[in-house]
Amino acid sequence: MESLAQKWQIEQQHWRAEGLTRSLEALDRAGNEGLHFRDACGRELLSFASNDYLALSGHPNLRRAAVAELARSGVGSGAAPLLGGERPVHAALAEALAAWLGEEAVLLFGSGYLANLGLVQALVGRKDRLYADRLNHASLVDAARLCGARLIRYRHGDPEDLAHRLRQGGSGRAWILSDGVFSMDGDVAPLPELLDLARQHEAVLILDEAHAFGVLGASGRGSLAHFGIEQPGPLLRMGTLGKAFGVYGAFVAGPQWLVDVLRQRARSFVYHTALPAALAAASLAALELLRDAEAERRHLLALRHALREALPQGQWLPSDSPIQALLLGDNARALALSARLREVGFYCPAVRPPTVPPHSARLRITLSAGHSTADIGALAKALNTALAAL
Ligand SMILES: *Cc1c(COP(=O)(O)O)cnc(C)c1O
Repeated sequence: MESLAQKWQIEQQHWRAEGLTRSLEALDRAGNEGLHFRDACGRELLSFASNDYLALSGHPNLRRAAVAELARSGVGSGAAPLLGGERPVHAALAEALAAWLGEEAVLLFGSGYLANLGLVQALVGRKDRLYADRLNHASLVDAARLCGARLIRYRHGDPEDLAHRLRQGGSGRAWILSDGVFSMDGDVAPLPELLDLARQHEAVLILDEAHAFGVLGASGRGSLAHFGIEQPGPLLRMGTLGKAFGVYGAFVAGPQWLVDVLRQRARSFVYHTALPAALAAASLAALELLRDAEAERRHLLALRHALREALPQGQWLPSDSPIQALLLGDNARALALSARLREVGFYCPAVRPPTVPPHSARLRITLSAGHSTADIGALAKALNTALAAL
């Protein structure tokens, strides 16, 4: 039999031939704030790959809050949350997040991946049915597998297909699992329809707001606010602190019973090291800025319109978020476009399978309030040139 090393060498050759190899590259920050980076060759790159939607990750308020808490609490939290790993700033953050969202309670997690795993594993039973959008984030897919429930995938963003599947019924309780904003396409889930279906079928909707909190709706309160829904009914939400918040970590928000149960039963909560206190402090500082960042959200919207208008209609996937995807299909074409943009100083990685479905390789551009209108103009010009040369 071939050795393990041989087996993976052969696999890797195959990935290279298919244009599927991903590279891990460390980029230095060029300047304290903003989205300029420098690669190992010293080339300056303006990033259109970051989830730092409000450009908060380098903000002086966050830096100050983190440094002050670092001085108080040290670097690591030292223990699991239930074994003394949390400091008063964790409770303050959880309370502020709950108040911002108008929820009873919030539970903090070390990351969004952990939050999704824990939330679904703790609540959804083996005999239950889980209805999941086909384009859900990998962490929701893994959470669905982990909980052992019957997994029923419905067509992306298609409430009719979901309704049809719900009507077929089955054992146990029904759960609907969806991203609020889809991470690779940038479109928003049909939330009013999903909530109606949840009510009709006594199901509960679990909504991943990783790309929605801070970005969509009044005060950045996410997809619900985007649709102006005030009485959502059977809804549990998860959000990350690593995207628009510009920090790291995550949280689940909902009724008190939810947090009480997760605290006891979510394995990724009980058995993980608590979020470092300095990150909780930075997240609290981020929340204060993010709530009132209406001008930044308006700027993001203007950038999105400017970018979409700069390319012929039909080239962009539909999107109501700062995530803008240019569908290319072929891996090699997506890689070539990304490489050309890099040559002229723009960092826009090609996204390929298995992150996206087969034959749907794309250039994924994420906009940030840290970009200027001139940045978008320059990117659009480079994009048009590179597309013409492709
Ligand atoms: C990024 C992301 C996550 C994971 O969050 P982390 O905090 O990065 O672990 C979960 N869901 C979606 C939709 C995401 O985009």
